[in-house]
Amino acid sequence: MTNRRDFLRNTALLTLGGVVIGKANNALAAAPVVGKTNAKQLGLQTYSLGRELAPDVPGGLKKVAQMGYTVLELAGYSAEGKIGAVPMAEFKKYADDAGLKIVSSHLNPPVRGGYTNDNLGQIKDFWKKATDHHAAIGVKYIIQPGQPPTRSVEETSYVCEVFNEAGKIAKAGGLIWGYHNHSGEFARVIPGGTEVVTGRPGFGQKPPEGIRIIYDIFLEKTDPSLVIFELDVYWTVMGQQDPVAYMKQYPQRIRVLHIKDVAVLGESGMMNFQKIYEVAYANGIQDFFVELEGYKEGTQFEGVKGCADYLLKAPFVK
Ligand code: MG
Repeated sequence: MTNRRDFLRNTALLTLGGVVIGKANNALAAAPVVGKTNAKQLGLQTYSLGRELAPDVPGGLKKVAQMGYTVLELAGYSAEGKIGAVPMAEFKKYADDAGLKIVSSHLNPPVRGGYTNDNLGQIKDFWKKATDHHAAIGVKYIIQPGQPPTRSVEETSYVCEVFNEAGKIAKAGGLIWGYHNHSGEFARVIPGGTEVVTGRPGFGQKPPEGIRIIYDIFLEKTDPSLVIFELDVYWTVMGQQDPVAYMKQYPQRIRVLHIKDVAVLGESGMMNFQKIYEVAYANGIQDFFVELEGYKEGTQFEGVKGCADYLLKAPFVK
């Protein structure tokens, strides 16, 4: 269905495309006409707007849609079934009214400290409730962005068992469970360790026996039929690793990306987004969410618009 809003958005984008890449007419001629829009699918993690979205969610979401975003990943779920102060059904209605589709949501079990047999029941109860709440508004993914603390290979392996349990619960409710990284997952652990190992071995030093990157254990010890990974490409770089290498090594596991930079996309020079998108498309990744943090020059809305402008102009973003 193409509604008036889509039509206007597409028209605006085609105009933009004509200016930027000069191939809009050819692209149009080659594009299938029926049931397909030519708009880019741009995703936004709503955390990017944290303090500014809350006072006027319906108005704020309309602004987000006008910037060119089409899909959302939520933040701020609470077990009473709210996103911030807004009941989820209401939030969905605001998103629908703005023409935005909610695809994903970030949420953490309310557990302090490490995962153990003692809090496993509490964690599972949380995911059951969260699955029901999110299935009711039709999201595809529920994603954990918080890293449970682990000090050894064994503790990290246990966390993977808990992730698998969460994945089972989500799957039974028709959702896909995922894990989102920061930089701490690229620290290392050793068998029987009592603390994480950060930094690199000194020149000429041999790494300890059995040392592993925590994220690699997550990838290897979670069940591919139950757990996917949302790679935050910026935090991967901050963890001194290459997001492209991870995508190439784990094409079946990394299925969603967080598109993030120091602040507004493309301004820092740290992130090779062209290469990241190239490999993501080759892997069939369809879900990308912009995340803005650390923007100090203006409002969060201005920063989020700057990110949309960058992606709309980028010839490598489909
Ligand atoms: Mg992120």
